[in-house]
Amino acid sequence: MTDEQREDREEFERCADFHGHVCPGLAVGYRAAKAGMAWLRQHRAEDEEMVAVVETDACGVDAVQVLTGCTFGKGNLIHRDYGKQAFTLLDRTTGKGVRLALKGGALALDDEHRVLLRKIREGTATEEERETFRHRHRRKCDQILAAPFEMIFSLEPVDVEPPAGAIIEDSVPCEACGEPTMPSKMVESAGRRLCRGCL
Ligand SMILES: [Zn+2]
Ligand SMILES: [Zn+2]
Repeated sequence: MTDEQREDREEFERCADFHGHVCPGLAVGYRAAKAGMAWLRQHRAEDEEMVAVVETDACGVDAVQVLTGCTFGKGNLIHRDYGKQAFTLLDRTTGKGVRLALKGGALALDDEHRVLLRKIREGTATEEERETFRHRHRRKCDQILAAPFEMIFSLEPVDVEPPAGAIIEDSVPCEACGEPTMPSKMVESAGRRLCRGCL
């Protein structure tokens, strides 16, 4: 194993530790984050002002968070609920970056794998089927990690309006529960300013 391969494996293991399991979706996020960061490095030096825009809220986002350091808490992880395995990394100051989208079929499971997945979700899989599933899942994951990037992803430079930074505002009490709430997140209902939890 070369130093680079060893480093790759360690990075992937860090993602798996954070995510809690190894799965094909995690491998997808891993490949996208690595390629996106390499692209940013190639096109500019700094990535301190990086923002990640993710179009899924599934497994892959955990790899993106570990590798890019973009998190919800820092306000530089933005979720667009499009249900697509697509990830954009960009420079907040310029709005320039790259969008990486999984190609059709790249994550497709064969019939046997799909049946096993269904049985596991339904809780009807035998121990032997669970073992087979783990094996198949790991193999799919390895395939995604080893595939030539352009075979499984499309890569497109983007130049967008830089996303706004985190908003800091003074909380006000919700008029129903009394809990301090960001005014911009509150909703007016029958003359009262309410948090969305109470609405
Ligand atoms: Zn997963
Ligand atoms: Zn409330």
